[in-house]
Amino acid sequence: MKCAICRNGMTQKSYTTVVLERNQMTLVFKHVPADICENCGEEYISSETNEKLLQYAEAEYEKGVSLELLNFAA
Ligand SMILES: [Zn+2]
Repeated sequence: MKCAICRNGMTQKSYTTVVLERNQMTLVFKHVPADICENCGEEYISSETNEKLLQYAEAEYEKGVSLELLNFAA
């Protein structure tokens, strides 16, 4: 799709790293599927993927972790 930020580039299916912080907890998700603009680098994460990230975050938060590196397998 065409990038909505720079209106110049096209997005490519790729993977990115997402960092979520909540109170004292930091979660680092590797290999998160995203559409990334080849021009400005803007990352578009689908609402479905975003939902999963939040569910993971919720579960980790319950465990009381402070720092976790997760491999996001969609
Ligand atoms: Zn762009």
